[in-house]
Amino acid sequence: MPVKMSTPREIVQWPPADHIGQVDVSMVGTNWWNLANRFGYENPWDLIIYNFRTEDPREVNWYLEQFVGCYIHDGDNYLFADAAPGFIYLPPPHWRPGGGFKRASGRRDYSRYIPRLTASRLRKAAHVCPTFRCSSGGFFGPSALREFASQIENGKVNVTVMPEMRWANWIALYAYDSSGGKKNTLLLSQEPDIGGTASTAALVHEAVHAWQDRRGKLMFRSDAELEAYAVDAIVYVLMNRRKCEEAMRAGHWETTHGYDYNMIRFGVAALQRYAYAPQIDLRQIESRMTSQWLNPATGKWEDYYAPFRTSVKEAETKDWHERMEYDG
Ligand SMILES: [Zn+2]
Repeated sequence: MPVKMSTPREIVQWPPADHIGQVDVSMVGTNWWNLANRFGYENPWDLIIYNFRTEDPREVNWYLEQFVGCYIHDGDNYLFADAAPGFIYLPPPHWRPGGGFKRASGRRDYSRYIPRLTASRLRKAAHVCPTFRCSSGGFFGPSALREFASQIENGKVNVTVMPEMRWANWIALYAYDSSGGKKNTLLLSQEPDIGGTASTAALVHEAVHAWQDRRGKLMFRSDAELEAYAVDAIVYVLMNRRKCEEAMRAGHWETTHGYDYNMIRFGVAALQRYAYAPQIDLRQIESRMTSQWLNPATGKWEDYYAPFRTSVKEAETKDWHERMEYDG
């Protein structure tokens, strides 16, 4: 995907005349969020608006290319890494974005906006999410999603946006604190309103990890992941039923849809299999119980489960969730 760009109608003076300093942003890992935090801004848009006087991401990309010299991108937006000259400018003390900017602080508190948006996405997913009977013995479903949403709204779970996660193909990550669960954080690679249903499914995936964590039952890491991906895939299919069934008929899934074809096949098959059941039984979603998935009559379920398991394994060797250290 090319970076979305548009030339600003009025190009700003660069660098901003009243800046009090410049900062080299070309080092890998620097992004608007941690840059803003480093200089005391909670809302990265304040810094963006100071530099470019716009809150249109397409214009921001134009400036990043023309003035900052960015050329590496994540598919949608430019990243700072390796930019030349690679400077962003710092506003004088007490500078505040003027009125008329929707994303700037004052108009909207960014640090509250992100959790609120995340929670509302989770509640939306709760409308379509079935109840799953899980291998750990409990039930994951709409109420677990709503509970996770509440924890986010109450600040019991922090939500942080970290765009550089996308370099490692991470969409979201639930990092929990093994010392008592006080500092659980949901890390997102982008704002929750970007990325559509694929990123909502990713939030559901992390909600499963949060639920596994709350239950405190020891699980094998691979099983925890299989469970999270199974719920993730089924909810994704439910949110995109027509598109997914078309992909199944066509026998392929374009990578631009941002979702793994084997997971879709698994999701569609699971929904067909449980079409009339009150809940979806995931108790056999286990990494070490492969033979149970063979249906001697048709052999069919295993046809879907085996590629699904392979996909999960592949995704997880690339992007292993750091804190899921249960698997010995
Ligand atoms: Zn996971």
